[in-house]
Amino acid sequence: MSGIKFLFICILLCAVIVGGLIKANIFESSENQNYTKVADSILVYSLQEQIGYKWLRELCDIGPRLSGSEQSIQAIKWAENKFIEMGCDSVWLQPVMVPKWVRGNIEEASVTKSKNFVGRPLNIASLGRSVGTNGVVTEAGVIEVKNFSDFKNFTREQVEGKIVFFNEPFDNSLLGTFRGYGKAVQQRAKGAIEASKLGAIAAIVRSVTSKPDNIPHVGTMSAFPDSVKQIPAAAIGVEDAEFLSKLLYEEPDIEIGIELDCANMGEAQSYNVVAEVKGNEFPNEIIVVGGHFDSWDKGHGAHDDGAPCIQTMEVLHQMIKLDLKPKRTIRCVLFINEENGIRGAIEYARLAEENNENHLAAIESDRGAFIPQGFNIEGDDELIDEMQKWLPILNKAKIDWIRKGGSGVDISRIKNVTAKIGFVPDDQRYFDVHHSANDTFESVNPREMQLGTAAITTLTYLISEEGI
Ligand SMILES: [Zn+2]
Repeated sequence: MSGIKFLFICILLCAVIVGGLIKANIFESSENQNYTKVADSILVYSLQEQIGYKWLRELCDIGPRLSGSEQSIQAIKWAENKFIEMGCDSVWLQPVMVPKWVRGNIEEASVTKSKNFVGRPLNIASLGRSVGTNGVVTEAGVIEVKNFSDFKNFTREQVEGKIVFFNEPFDNSLLGTFRGYGKAVQQRAKGAIEASKLGAIAAIVRSVTSKPDNIPHVGTMSAFPDSVKQIPAAAIGVEDAEFLSKLLYEEPDIEIGIELDCANMGEAQSYNVVAEVKGNEFPNEIIVVGGHFDSWDKGHGAHDDGAPCIQTMEVLHQMIKLDLKPKRTIRCVLFINEENGIRGAIEYARLAEENNENHLAAIESDRGAFIPQGFNIEGDDELIDEMQKWLPILNKAKIDWIRKGGSGVDISRIKNVTAKIGFVPDDQRYFDVHHSANDTFESVNPREMQLGTAAITTLTYLISEEGI
């Protein structure tokens, strides 16, 4: 063998050995191999068994889960039983009083004065917290507000005695639909209050949705300050909002009539549902997974937030079923009343503080049950860098990124958590269904939902084993 050939072989051998060592350290340590195996088993179980999707069918059969409603209590009992059946170490209910608002049976609107359209119905649905119209039809001229931020320039003279029609469209030019929602939802939250301050007698609000159908998308309004008279308020389907806008352009002095018999009924007893699988090395370090268990009442509340809640219930089920024996305690919390009060989140955080509980991480799923994309983290940059090393493992369940970002409303109140984490699935279809009759069991794709389950379960397991 020539000297040069010998040298070449030595360099080649060194390269192979060093390369192998680097690879072994980063990607093939025995721990990572083990995590990869666990991630595989979680993924296969999620997709094959579709346990969560089967539970979603049962949950949707109960009906929507408006805070304080009969069905919400039935759903709470259903979840409690599921946790007991799956063999959690502990299961309990946290009592909490919630506001009780009822939709009633009447929510109707139509054109009452016009050259050609008298009697033309308008598809509306009462907004959460709205008062009713006291058994009569509220009838008046209409003033349109095309951009909510312009309403500050309206005068009492223009508004007094009128029905204010907030008609700002959802900005579909934005890639992220949550940004479009964030802009347009202001008119739903604050429109009626601002209208009432100028003497309006009712408000109707264009549905905050990315889908141009005629289904009203509801949701709550902010609470009226005591000094402002409460007026009835309803969402209107996008097609009818477009019709009304065109009609007002042609006939500015049309009138419409609205009748609502929704009502605020004080408070009702409700509960957060809590269940745990105890950690076998660090039982006092708690990782919370959860979502909000209440929903709006027009559909099943399947994407918001039934399926995401069930994804987090399945985390506990898989820990037990796949015999994963987590090092840290994994606690699932189904928070009640996120939609119109966040009382459940406030009470959970209060008790956690009172009991001096140590929350390592809290993971929330409240963006629908679509194909996983990433995790938003509220935590230190260093921690986020560390967590990004798990991406090759999380990628098995289609998680592409981990980055700084908002987590979720229900975990926002918990104090002293190292990382608050929001599960982020694809959002292109979420606001087609959000808070509407479109949010049904049928709108959930089983594989997309189960991929979310796998992503959240894998991340929870990694935090439990590695700590953060
Ligand atoms: Zn939600």
